[in-house]
Amino acid sequence: MTDKQPIFILPENIQRIMGRDAQRNNIMAARMVADTIKTTLGPKGMDKMLVNNIGDIIITNDGVTILEEMEIEHPAAKMLVEVAKTQEDAVGDGTTTAVILAGKLLENAEKLLDKKIHPTVIARGYRIAAELSQELLQDISTKIGKDSLLLRSIASTAMTGKGAETSKDILSDIVVKAVTQVMEEKDGKYIVDLNNVKLEKRKGGGIEDSELIKGIVLDKEKVHSDMPSVVKNARIALLDTALEIKAPETDTKISISSPEQLQAFLDQEERTLKSMVQQIKASKANVVICQKGIDDVAQYYLTKEGIYGLRRVSKSDMEKLSKATGAKIVSNIHELTEKELGNAETVEEVKEGSEEGVTYITGCVNPKALTILIRGGTEHVIDEIERAIKDALGDVAAALQDGKIVSGGGAVETELAKRLREKGQVLKGREQLAVQEFASALDSIPSILAENAGLDPIDMLTELKAIHETEKGKNFGIDVYNGKIEDMMIKGVIEPLRIKTQAIKSASEVAMMLLRIDDVIASGKGGMMPPSQPMGMGEE
Ligand code: ADP
Ligand code: MG
Repeated sequence: MTDKQPIFILPENIQRIMGRDAQRNNIMAARMVADTIKTTLGPKGMDKMLVNNIGDIIITNDGVTILEEMEIEHPAAKMLVEVAKTQEDAVGDGTTTAVILAGKLLENAEKLLDKKIHPTVIARGYRIAAELSQELLQDISTKIGKDSLLLRSIASTAMTGKGAETSKDILSDIVVKAVTQVMEEKDGKYIVDLNNVKLEKRKGGGIEDSELIKGIVLDKEKVHSDMPSVVKNARIALLDTALEIKAPETDTKISISSPEQLQAFLDQEERTLKSMVQQIKASKANVVICQKGIDDVAQYYLTKEGIYGLRRVSKSDMEKLSKATGAKIVSNIHELTEKELGNAETVEEVKEGSEEGVTYITGCVNPKALTILIRGGTEHVIDEIERAIKDALGDVAAALQDGKIVSGGGAVETELAKRLREKGQVLKGREQLAVQEFASALDSIPSILAENAGLDPIDMLTELKAIHETEKGKNFGIDVYNGKIEDMMIKGVIEPLRIKTQAIKSASEVAMMLLRIDDVIASGKGGMMPPSQPMGMGEE
């Protein structure tokens, strides 16, 4: 055996890319993701129409929604999707910004790699810049209290360009009212639990008919039309068990050989259901809300007792109801007593025309239970409004909790880039170059905002940078509607500081992580080749 045998340490179907190729490949994939969504940034950004394999259509401008629906395969590209998701969880808004930043950081890193700067040096420079950014941003931001005018501007900025245009004022008002009503003050700080705000969608009417309801709205009608439509002083039982006879196990057989036996069996069933309803009645409940089904016979007896019944209410709604009304969710109907019931002033079915009815539970014992009822002409419109409202809720909550805001329209990014460049100059060596590239990645935000608004990005950026050199320049950004550089604080284009701190944090983390990878080993379905088409669609 003198011949050299090739040595295989990996199975055959493994894809492997190493060294500079691995970096290039990852960077290219990440850039493609960023490029795909960059046209949606800002009020003048475009929307995307996404069609899934069963033909459902989503029309949206929301970064994280687009990326989630795209079913991205490439591992590096997937990490950018994670950036968007982290942003979504931490703030709710700013997902496009975060992904664009990550893409730009990588694009700029590539320039340095081409200059033979080692990736670990770039990563170190980026780390320095990211840490500096967090400090500088605190300094650039403005403190706020619970001034509702400001909060409304924040909500409105979040919703600009998201199909909510015509009703932005009404919706901003709803969002701010909702957040301030659920807000609690503790040791001079505000705490907002957005779980108290339920979003419910209802087709029909215009967006401007959306409303904030004190209480819970369930997209369900009473199970039997003869049940009362309104129950005052509601005593509510929440059941996570069915008001049904359990179907016999698959392998048990009941042999019935005579009509009498059948009748006896049915009577037995009916008696069981009747006793369940008796149990509910004995607890003094006049409303029963069931997470599972309610059998026809049980419906009949409930109706006879004048009890309002709802069935198949989702688990998350059951939990909201429990919090709102103080009811305990009961699993065993025999344990239901008056103690487990919750209270609300009114439970009412509201029906409009031929539409399915909905149930309003208002005047709950917990005043923090709220529902935003979102209206709109079509499902696609309502869904996009829902995403806009979620962004706005997250932004207003973040602004209140942190008490800090920054100005939008590219103002904060420009100011931060400027200060980073200044700070970077004192750094020695090649890290300085990385800090400068980090700063120019930030410039891409105003630049893309301008581009998406049909303005000249170079002219706008030059003018923007010039004014930021002046003393009053800190809050100047691009008014995408008139193409002028103006003070965004005065214009009311305001965002919570947290959008930016979070976006920079996760974008720089993913960029640094991808830069350190010099070997990609993928088994099976690799998905490692960057797609030849911009959206990564239609690839095998
Ligand atoms: P993201 O997913 O990052 O939130 P958006 O499409 O919501 O992306 O765009 C957010 C950007 O649009 C922010 O930079 C914000 O400052 C900017 N923006 C929002 N409203 C305005 C406005 N009226 N004028 C200029 N820029 C605005
Ligand atoms: Mg946004």
